[in-house]
Amino acid sequence: MKFTQVESFRGDANTIRIVGHRGARGILPENSIIGFDFALSIGVDLLEFDVLLTRDDVPVITHNHELNGAATRGPDGRFINGAGARVASLYFEDIECFDIGRLNGHTDYGRRFCEQAQLDGVRVPKLSELLELVSQPKHQRVCMMLELKSDPEFSADRTAKEKLVSVVTCEIKKAGMEDRTLLHSFDWTLLAECKKQVADMPTSYLTQLKQHAEDIGEETSLHSTPDLRPPDISLPDEVKKAGGELWCPHFKDISKADLMRAKDLGLCVAVWTVNEPDDIDAMIDLHVDAIITDYPGRVQRRLSDRGWLWER
Ligand code: MG
Repeated sequence: MKFTQVESFRGDANTIRIVGHRGARGILPENSIIGFDFALSIGVDLLEFDVLLTRDDVPVITHNHELNGAATRGPDGRFINGAGARVASLYFEDIECFDIGRLNGHTDYGRRFCEQAQLDGVRVPKLSELLELVSQPKHQRVCMMLELKSDPEFSADRTAKEKLVSVVTCEIKKAGMEDRTLLHSFDWTLLAECKKQVADMPTSYLTQLKQHAEDIGEETSLHSTPDLRPPDISLPDEVKKAGGELWCPHFKDISKADLMRAKDLGLCVAVWTVNEPDDIDAMIDLHVDAIITDYPGRVQRRLSDRGWLWER
């Protein structure tokens, strides 16, 4: 079965697609409407973002299960210290009180994105706000890589996983976006639940080998991802066996042989998160289908300088 949204992520002989990671995290607040809007405005029509549920079951776009102290200010305008309250313990109206427009440059996380604009009045968006944005006729080619985040406190709780998949996919279907959305996760049990509940939507399997875990200052997903160890195990074969349409490895984990194998299996291959020019060049040389990046403009520039296209 061919899914149109999977084909949107697939490159060709002259094209490597660009996916805006959390919008354009390198330069604008992550997982914010202003960041998504910016990526769309520069012709990047594939968006990656993270979805969690609030206490009142509102799907919101944010990465960590606890409010990230490096990127979140309270109503008093001060950064909250360390990890904040759990999103699952807050009502949406509580979350609206926090501002995610700035990064604290005195934190490890803040130092990673020293070019990010400093804004005020930016809120954690509801999933429905992004769906409304991409529903505009001018954005009809936009496709979404919707990452379902697995709660480390409920890793064995099937009911919580069933609810997350059900609430989120109902919202997608209500907006008529089921053929423009990929369901994406590190947690393969969540993706299996997606297969059960919405077999008519494609899935994207994230992988990260433990030796390349280096996401400083943010919540890791290693607790939920299968511990797959090449060369004994072929990652693309495991993704295919699990029923995936797209394989999304950390860019340091992929080899030419694995990429060829994935293509033989019919998988689309998008690598995350590629930000440095040398790494971008290496992924262009490898000829992956899509590059997920915090700096979509940088990837455009490298592709352009080297005679590649990114739009289809
Ligand atoms: Mg993500």
